Amino acid sequence: MEIQKSTGIVLSSRTSGEADLFCRILTKECGKRDFIIKGLKKSKRRSQSAAEPGTVLKLIYYFSETRSSFIVKEFEVLRYNFDIRDNLQKIFNLYLILETVEKTSGYNDTDRQIFDLLAAGIDTVSKTDSPVNLSVFFILHLLRLQGLLPDMKKCKKCGRTDYREFTLDISDLCPLCENCSGSRMKLTQASARNFIEDSLTQKFMHLNNPDFNRDNALNLIFYLVMFIEHYFNIEIKSKKNVLSSDV
Ligand SMILES: [Zn+2]
Repeated sequence: MEIQKSTGIVLSSRTSGEADLFCRILTKECGKRDFIIKGLKKSKRRSQSAAEPGTVLKLIYYFSETRSSFIVKEFEVLRYNFDIRDNLQKIFNLYLILETVEKTSGYNDTDRQIFDLLAAGIDTVSKTDSPVNLSVFFILHLLRLQGLLPDMKKCKKCGRTDYREFTLDISDLCPLCENCSGSRMKLTQASARNFIEDSLTQKFMHLNNPDFNRDNALNLIFYLVMFIEHYFNIEIKSKKNVLSSDV
C-alpha cells in the first residue's frame, strides 16, 4: 500500500457503519475517487465539516490499486462554506452543481479544468445573489469542457438566428425556434439566449442581463439537466429541489 496526497472537493458523503464516513471526492490530481474517513462521525476532536459536500480538503491516504475506496490517514479542511449553509436556495444549487460533476465524471479521470471550474463555482455560489443563474452558467461551462456544447446561436431546423422564443432539443441541446419547436414544450425568451452567449464569453460576476429572470433560468436548467440525464443515462436527483423551490 502506498501513501498518496491530494487536494479534493467533497461531491457527496454518507455514513458507513457506525462511525465512518464514505466520501466521493473530486481530486485535483487523480479525478473522482472514493474515500473512507474512519471514526469521523463520533469524533469530538475532528470536525465533521470535512465530509460536507462542497468542502475542499487536503488528504493523505492509503492508496491501493486493488481497492475501490481508500482509507484517509489525515486530512485538513482548506475551505468550508459557512456562508452557504444558511441559505436554502444556495444549498440546492450547490448540490446541483456537485451532483452534475459527480455523475458525469469517471473515476481516476484527471481533469484540472473541471476541478478548477468546480472550485470557482462553489466560491461563486457563496458570493452571488443569483445561485440559479450560477447553476446555468456552471452547467454550460461543464458541458463545454466535456465537448458537449453545440452551436447555440441558430435554430437547429431552420437556421434562423433572430428568433424571439425557443426551446432546447434535449437530444443534442440545439435551439429550436418558436416556429420549429412544436407546441408541446414551454418556450424560453430570447433573453435566455443572450444569457447563454454572455455566459460563454464573460465572467459570471460581470454578467448583466436585466431581462433574464428566474423563470428563464429555471427553464434553462430544466433543459440542460434533461440533456445531461439523456446523454449520460443518469438521474440528477437534486434538480427537483432547484426547480420546485420558491425561496
Ligand atoms: Zn426554426
